[in-house]
Amino acid sequence: MEINIQNVSMSYPNGKQALKNLNLDLRAPSLIGLLGPNGAGKTTLMKLLVTALMPTEGSILVDGQPLDSAERLLKSKLGYLPQDFGLFDELTVTQFLDYMAALKGLRRPKAEIRKVILAVNLEEKAKAKIRTLSGGQRQRVGIAQALLGAPPFLIFDEPTVGLDPEERIHFRNLFSRTAEDRLVLLSTHIIEDVQSVCDQIIVIHHGQILFAGTPEKLIQSASGHVGVFWEKDAAKEQGLRITARVNTSEGLIRCRAVADRLPAYVQPEEPTLEDAYLYLISGEVAE
Ligand code: ADP
Repeated sequence: MEINIQNVSMSYPNGKQALKNLNLDLRAPSLIGLLGPNGAGKTTLMKLLVTALMPTEGSILVDGQPLDSAERLLKSKLGYLPQDFGLFDELTVTQFLDYMAALKGLRRPKAEIRKVILAVNLEEKAKAKIRTLSGGQRQRVGIAQALLGAPPFLIFDEPTVGLDPEERIHFRNLFSRTAEDRLVLLSTHIIEDVQSVCDQIIVIHHGQILFAGTPEKLIQSASGHVGVFWEKDAAKEQGLRITARVNTSEGLIRCRAVADRLPAYVQPEEPTLEDAYLYLISGEVAE
């Protein structure tokens, strides 16, 4: 499966331009992390991909066919977990998935439902009413419905928000297994989620793509732009962007920062993915 986004722009009726001339090629198998600050345009992009919105300019091709004519085709190939996913509280997990399977027109719903319940580890809650589930369990139901019918293209919008660390790890493993033979697009602003599972990263900021490539390439781009220093040694100026500030037991404050040019008192360090992301977003990268 391949998706080509060509010169896509999207303006809302109020005139707000959420995406500006996007060009992207997404190809299975891949687990792609979509990163960007709030308001960057991530949800808008995902809504375009699920045809909840149409672009005001440009086109999206699915396996070479324009999305508008491929729309029905894509719907059968798409699993989607929106950010504000509503569940029916009075249904049991199985009843809800049965309903979603019917909406998707699945031929063998029982077998499919069993498979996805197993995948998200909810066997024990299969007969429980949704209103009795914890936040993490509800999120698992949302993910389960996206997996129904084994669609080759999956979109998850902020799937790990509100989950505890253990649940997040469980989901990361699930996403990684899911993406072995499919295209999975994961929108998040949790860098650890991306770092541990994604083979590709797309960074959007102000409706534009700032970066598309491997995590390693993004990290490399910040090499020589990250360092640590003691706050007492720091001069005032110098365009440093502090990314961490730690009170040490000796009473000194140790800072980590990104900058276009590191001052002499800053000791260079290997960048992490978070450093690289912050450096990119801070707009100090030379074009
Ligand atoms: P993200 O998902 O990265 O937080 P969004 O795609 O939701 O970003 O929003 C991108 C921009 O478009 C923001 O400036 C947001 O305020 C604006 N926006 C989103 N939805 C609408 C809408 N329905 N009408 C007008 N502006 C919108």
